[in-house]
Amino acid sequence: MLLALRPWTPLMPLHLLVGLALASAPFPPAAPAAHATSAPRHGIDRKDWNLPHRPLRIYGNTWYVGPYGLSSILVDTGRGLALFDGGLPASASVIEANIRTLGFRMRDVKWILNSHAHADHAGGIAALKRDSGAQVLASADGRREMALGGADRDDPQYGDTPGYPPVWDVRVVRDGEVVQLGGVAFTAHYTPGHTPGSTSWTWNSCADGRCLRMAYADSLTAIGAPGFRFSDHPDRVNAFRQAIATVADLPCDVLLTPHPDASGFWQRVARRPSGNAAAGLVDAAACSAYAATAAEGLNARLADERAGGGKDRLRP
Ligand SMILES: [Zn+2]
Repeated sequence: MLLALRPWTPLMPLHLLVGLALASAPFPPAAPAAHATSAPRHGIDRKDWNLPHRPLRIYGNTWYVGPYGLSSILVDTGRGLALFDGGLPASASVIEANIRTLGFRMRDVKWILNSHAHADHAGGIAALKRDSGAQVLASADGRREMALGGADRDDPQYGDTPGYPPVWDVRVVRDGEVVQLGGVAFTAHYTPGHTPGSTSWTWNSCADGRCLRMAYADSLTAIGAPGFRFSDHPDRVNAFRQAIATVADLPCDVLLTPHPDASGFWQRVARRPSGNAAAGLVDAAACSAYAATAAEGLNARLADERAGGGKDRLRP
């Protein structure tokens, strides 16, 4: 599962070396067979979330730089890099190594954007911010939650999730707001439910004259700490259903998710005929299918609660 790049050759320019390495291994040879064949619902074992994995181009200017089990998505805007999510606190060094492997510098990272403020997606952001000087962007609730190191009493999982180094000086992006860095426009879509501050993001990524609509759709799993009942909060359930509808309607040629296994990412990458191919990755129905699965999960959770339980059926 470790990086399988060729030995470093100082005579060879880095971008050439990276190009060679990526061209020679267009999809992750490191994914264990047991993972490659497991259904997304069952997911990647928590212990494997932070396994180092070499970076790969998703499409055009968009790269995967996270460890194996937690997405970090890098977008080269032409005037700096935008980075989505920072994994666990221990993921920051993995992500930074991957960014450097691609030939970028940490100080080229201008923005760090967050999906939701749990430790497995925001845990590494404080270190990444420190090491890059980047501006962090999130929803209004996301800013509040990151300043608390994830200890938000309004979080359904409050008390049952690990904390992480707090993140300060976060710029709030409004629901529906478009923020531009270099040549790329990113749209924030508030999708509360999994956490109050959950946000999905969309942008376009182009290669060889073809632009694809990228959707980084946030987690939509209805999970709560012991004793938490979504059904005690009808307003939250309504907002959650609206969020699921929002995700179903996102501009979405390529679905990416904070947990790559939630959208079969590694299976889709493995299906590609070459390293920058759209074929295999693109699925026009992916966002609506992801939303449908989320609706099933929420309904199952509510049914459990009606039956007197609150047993978690889904992973984070
Ligand atoms: Zn989460």
